[in-house]
Amino acid sequence: MIDDSIPLKYRGLLQRVRTLGSKSKAEAIKAMCLECVSFKYKWVTKCTSIKCPLFQVRPYQKKDVVNINVVTTTQGELIVTSRNL
Ligand code: SF4
Repeated sequence: MIDDSIPLKYRGLLQRVRTLGSKSKAEAIKAMCLECVSFKYKWVTKCTSIKCPLFQVRPYQKKDVVNINVVTTTQGELIVTSRNL
């Protein structure tokens, strides 16, 4: 259901994904991330949930970051590195 709590500019996207049968993966990911952060797109940009399966493909990423690598050490620590253009 598309209710008034969803900002007007995202209602079309949500309607396509939820009720009109959109098969666009990009739209589905965008809708998921926007819902995750209460439709504050800047929070998607600042998302730090590297364990989220959508992290690498989330929308609104800064264009200059091209690669993020996550490595788990034998002690269970996560090491995150990124490479800029
Ligand atoms: S990548 Fe970040 S914003 Fe997108 S669904 Fe995962 S945790 Fe939420």
